[in-house]
Amino acid sequence: MTNHPDAARVLADVPRQLLVGGQWRDATGGATLPVEDPATGETLCEVADASVADGAAALDAAVAAQAGWAATPPQERSEILYRAFQLMQQRSDDLALLMTLEMGKSLAEAKGEVAYAAEFFRWNSGEALRVDGYVKDAANGQSRVMVLKQPVGPCFFITPWNFPAAMGTRKIAPAIAAGCTMVVKPAEQTPLSMLALAALLEEAGLPPGVLNVVPTSSSPDLSAPIIADPRLRKLSFTGSTEVGRLLIAQAADQVLKVSMELGGNAPFLVFDDADLDAAVEGAMVAKMRNMGEACTSANRFYVHASVAEEFAGRLAERMSALTLGHGADEGTEVGPLIDADQRGKVTELVTDAVDKGARALTGGGPRDGAGYFFEPTVLTGVTADARLLKEEIFGPVAPISTFTDEDEAIARANDTEYGLVSYLFTRDLDRALRVAERLESGMVGLNQGLVSNAGAPFGGVKASGLGREGGNEGLAEFLETKYVAIKR
Ligand code: NAP
Repeated sequence: MTNHPDAARVLADVPRQLLVGGQWRDATGGATLPVEDPATGETLCEVADASVADGAAALDAAVAAQAGWAATPPQERSEILYRAFQLMQQRSDDLALLMTLEMGKSLAEAKGEVAYAAEFFRWNSGEALRVDGYVKDAANGQSRVMVLKQPVGPCFFITPWNFPAAMGTRKIAPAIAAGCTMVVKPAEQTPLSMLALAALLEEAGLPPGVLNVVPTSSSPDLSAPIIADPRLRKLSFTGSTEVGRLLIAQAADQVLKVSMELGGNAPFLVFDDADLDAAVEGAMVAKMRNMGEACTSANRFYVHASVAEEFAGRLAERMSALTLGHGADEGTEVGPLIDADQRGKVTELVTDAVDKGARALTGGGPRDGAGYFFEPTVLTGVTADARLLKEEIFGPVAPISTFTDEDEAIARANDTEYGLVSYLFTRDLDRALRVAERLESGMVGLNQGLVSNAGAPFGGVKASGLGREGGNEGLAEFLETKYVAIKR
């Protein structure tokens, strides 16, 4: 356990029950699941473990609340969202500490996520006021065309452990803005941030039943009947491509609207004309945010051969200077990975790359002792057959390969089933635009290592997903278009 002075209070304050129809209650049969601190492996607390029946009750509550919620004035929805934004800002320290305890990231990063998560409330408090349709004359002049935008209806959200607050608010905020009710199933490993957010939204004035939260240790069992229920109208999922595929197949039965924010395998291109200071800075952000456990994490570095040695040396110097530790301890820059499995997978990928000829300039393995720590690692001479060029690493490992011309760089960047984000460093404007247009990804970071922004459409192409979150596009995912033909 950390000796942070506020840890015990923050844990004591967080609700540990299910939120169903405005009632905080135990799971059927009183079942609970443990929440672990990944920096120590200790159990922090137990939370209610929803059963299939609890999931069904949560959907009943969302369905019951839908009509009334859709009828609330947009201004009321907007004000609730703005109050939620303000409360998140006021409680930022406590929310960040809670997130660090259950997920491991450093306090500075957790505060960054709380701020990012809160921005979805602020952005969507404005969006709630801008839901508009239109009226026009039909081309033949014989009728009017009236187009309405209506809430899609009850939604089911499944969120991952890596950004326990932001991956929730990215869905919850536009749903509230549009007038949709919802059931949220947070990741088993990180339910506390979502429970704290639910309490905060209640305090902000969200009516009972609009948001229902059901942490569970049996995600597939709880989720399948909700997805199969004809009263559900939308499924939004953030997580692995593997699970996303399964859920899309389940959603096909009743032709559900789906949004899928799935895995990534981001290329990070550094051209010979790049500002190397900016490229190294960008690489630190794109690689080390969330200890590399981000869908947007730079997974493959392709650096022009003429600058590769200098880039790799400077990146290794920065990576080796990072301080590992419990995220809540003063001075910690890099926390643990989420669990032993994740650390084992990262170790396996690095071992495979080294066996095939790569060399570790710094790091290269897990750190001994308690918690699931992995050393920040830079690998050079990574061969094309190394598994980590094809698979999502989800850890603090930067594999560097070289290229000699632009076409080769683009071809290698696009040689993946994924297409979430690409990073590109060059000072040549023509090249920047040319390459950005040819990269097969939903987002491009041009001379910067961070693309996440509540006001921008976040999402991927290819096996990285369907739909967008954030920006105007984020709200559109929760609106249905209805056309009324009016006789003149
Ligand atoms: P995951 O294993 O796919 O789990 C994500 C969520 O799905 C969790 O809540 C999990 O519940 C639930 N789940 C797993 N199997 C399920 C099933 N059969 N039916 C219903 N729910 C199921 O992914 P993860 O390891 O938590 O998260 C990492 C992945 O998320 C990475 O691939 C990353 O790239 C991706 N990600 C993408 C984005 C994006 O915006 N594109 C953002 C963040 C993360 P349990 O926790 O109970 O297993």
